[in-house]
Amino acid sequence: MKFIPSALLLLFAATFFSIWLLDRRRRQLILFALAFLAVGGGTIVQFVLWPPDIGYNTIVSAMLYAAGPLLLVEGLLARSGQSLPLAAHAGWFGSIVASLVYFYYVDNNLQIRVYLLNLGMGAIILHGAWLLRRQLRGNSIDRATVWLSVGLAATFFARTLLTGSSIPTDDVQAFFESEFWIWAQFTMSVLGVAIGLGLLVVASADVILLLKAERDTDPLTGLLNRRGLQGRSMMLMGAARRRPVSVVAGDIDRFKGINDRFGHAAGDTVLTMFAGLVRKTVRKGDMAARIGGEEFIMILKDCAVSEAFALTERLRQEVADLRLDGMPDDFRVTCSFGIAQLHAGEGLWEAIGRADKILYAAKRAGRDRTFAEGLQLPSPARGLLQHSR
Ligand code: GH3
Ligand code: MG
Ligand code: MG
Repeated sequence: MKFIPSALLLLFAATFFSIWLLDRRRRQLILFALAFLAVGGGTIVQFVLWPPDIGYNTIVSAMLYAAGPLLLVEGLLARSGQSLPLAAHAGWFGSIVASLVYFYYVDNNLQIRVYLLNLGMGAIILHGAWLLRRQLRGNSIDRATVWLSVGLAATFFARTLLTGSSIPTDDVQAFFESEFWIWAQFTMSVLGVAIGLGLLVVASADVILLLKAERDTDPLTGLLNRRGLQGRSMMLMGAARRRPVSVVAGDIDRFKGINDRFGHAAGDTVLTMFAGLVRKTVRKGDMAARIGGEEFIMILKDCAVSEAFALTERLRQEVADLRLDGMPDDFRVTCSFGIAQLHAGEGLWEAIGRADKILYAAKRAGRDRTFAEGLQLPSPARGLLQHSR
């Protein structure tokens, strides 16, 4: 029975190791595996009393117990590309192990050793939670990892402070019968499973969110693709009811000619640079998508057609000013735009269809221009207003 916590911890170590084998770029998975291995190893070292010398045993298990939270924190930080500074690793590990050496060989006091080790483990996790605090502004999984750390650290403090008085000062045998140890066993099993399952949820949510983001993103430009735009269209319906929403359809002029003259790679560069300017044009909360070869959509929230027109004209000018390395001096990229307002109650693709028609009117009128519906005329049905350089 006493090996149940060890078995559970090692089981999670094996689980995280197996999923790490599937995707070795996810450093956090191997760090989680090592964290469980370290703490599980620590429990085994204590239970089988190997090394048999109490002093060595104390030091080896303390090393493993200190490494566990350090690896866990490193794994949680790795999710967001952060890392615990090496000095912090060395500082925590060194001070825990050194203080345990002191309170065994110099001033033998089991109670203080237990306090130092458990509060130290809690403090390491709290330090990690502090470094993760920026994630409180992230998605629900990011926020959960911060609270998971705070909760785990809290249990170390609470358990130690509430049951610490039951720890004998030097009798190791009595220690294994103390109230503290019973609670330590219990929380190690329950908490070990809770943290293990929590981290598995985090790891799978990370993969699902990444796949979802990839599904919705155009790989060449990083803008939304048609699917991504579609998935977000419901959000716009409510927005259009409250404030004006403009839909801008854009298309690069004679793009096929660019491909034919300079090659597909040059065409891709033009697409990427164009998309970069589109991304710069939209504001927070707006959307930018590539819905076809060289066809782009901008959804501008809280933006009347006249404002959208001004923004789009600025973009068109920036595109005209683009210079590409290795291209002739007279090489210019131009594009045409059509702007429609998204009416409350109409579907997004209806409005995109209208913006597209207006865009093709701009093409027919000679390209390199922006047409917008109802800009100065009271009704879109009565005509289009042309704006050109
Ligand atoms: P218009 O001024 O009427 O828009 O003419 P256009 O040549 O831009 O339009 P058309 O639709 O005839 O050509 C679009 C071209 O875009 C055809 C296709 O080969 C090219 N294209 C589509 N996707 C990609 C891509 O991912 N990369 C590159 N380099 N070219 C692409
Ligand atoms: Mg085109
Ligand atoms: Mg086109």
